Amino acid sequence: MVRFLIRILVICIFSVPAFSPAFAQDTFVLKGGRIIDGRGGAPIVDGIIVMQADKIVAVGPIADTVIPAGARIIDTNGMTIMPGLIDIHVHFDILGHSDYGHWFGTYEDRMRSDIMPAAAKAMLMAGVTSVRDLGADVSNIFWLKEQINSGAMPGPRTFIAGPFLRKTATAFVSDNYKDTWVVENPADARKKVRRLAKMGADVIKTQDENLSEAELAAIYDESHKLGLRVASHIYSAEAIRTALKAGIGNYDTIEHIGEYEAMAYDDDIVRMIVDQKVAMAATIVARDGLRQIIENPELTDDPRWIRDLPADIYLDVRKSYRDVDLSKHPLYDKANKHRAGRMSKLRQLKDAGAIFTVSTDSGTRANPHHDAMWKEMVLLQAETGMSNMEVIVAATRTNSIVMQQQDTIGTLEAGKFADIIIVDGDPLTYLSDMRRVKHVIKGGELFH
Ligand SMILES: [Zn+2]
Repeated sequence: MVRFLIRILVICIFSVPAFSPAFAQDTFVLKGGRIIDGRGGAPIVDGIIVMQADKIVAVGPIADTVIPAGARIIDTNGMTIMPGLIDIHVHFDILGHSDYGHWFGTYEDRMRSDIMPAAAKAMLMAGVTSVRDLGADVSNIFWLKEQINSGAMPGPRTFIAGPFLRKTATAFVSDNYKDTWVVENPADARKKVRRLAKMGADVIKTQDENLSEAELAAIYDESHKLGLRVASHIYSAEAIRTALKAGIGNYDTIEHIGEYEAMAYDDDIVRMIVDQKVAMAATIVARDGLRQIIENPELTDDPRWIRDLPADIYLDVRKSYRDVDLSKHPLYDKANKHRAGRMSKLRQLKDAGAIFTVSTDSGTRANPHHDAMWKEMVLLQAETGMSNMEVIVAATRTNSIVMQQQDTIGTLEAGKFADIIIVDGDPLTYLSDMRRVKHVIKGGELFH
């Protein structure tokens, strides 16, 4: 923000005419390559993007776009230029360790100094320029949002839920670490939503299946009145039906949609999901990542994992997969049992016309921030039958709508923030090329 203000000041003080050398010093151009703008149309071949300060000022083919004199040019030939990715479900306070009890017992005091900064850096390096944190300790997460969004800490644009709203507290955190607010009744639910809104929450998160229909209705109604969306973590068909009857809709999300064994949802559920425009957040990688690491522990030797974390924490995370027999872990069992049903239900929803987001739950077990987004995109394509382009639009424009930020991020268009990634490859042919994010620009600033 400081850099941005200085840039604006410089522009105001000298009030230079457009394209003069002084102004052009602030102008960057990405020249060459294929542009996928996030709107779902055909890519621009041999394209160009002009940025001034933190904004995009022009996007188009080289042939029709004027390059301002004196602009600094970055050659992007042979690469793919896309909007920065948006992840609507992350957790800054966890880094993929397999044992949450151990994690919160050991690292509570290192959240601000080590863990949250490491998560923020890993997300940004993976090309994720905006995120929604869906559940963390109250004091730490509001502090983190301020740190990142003020420019004091490198990281993606950060939107947060604050604590989970639940019927019972989570078991693995201490008395000091407050990541849950317990809802007593509908009136209390409204009060807690209002309090969170006042504190600066951007979204409300419900996390268990024991909230009653009346309590959920109070949460949805109060949140919607305040202009906030709700993300509901629910698995069973009955809990989903209850949430739908309680008023979830209009780009609120169902997190972990598809989980559990049944091969299909009843028709009334699918119809309500589509009619009420609830956005689907599958978080497949949160299950499949665990299966991948249990079956191939070598994955924890990935240099990006080592690069992103403090050495002692990395070794502790690695140990949590190497020294424990996780094939007995109940989540591994679930990952295998639920897979066929999840794939079948996700396809059912896709075929019915439901809205799909890309949502990773990154930071959870075996789901490190550096890998979550590209893996989720690949898994979502494989399990729903979405096209590569549909997945890319979900990860950019659709997710910007879910976060109510569609006027400023999510697509490459003049006037929007210059949140841009440059991918070494062609994700329209091989979606797994999303793993190879070569450069990340956020608000006009090149981060790597
Ligand atoms: Zn989560």
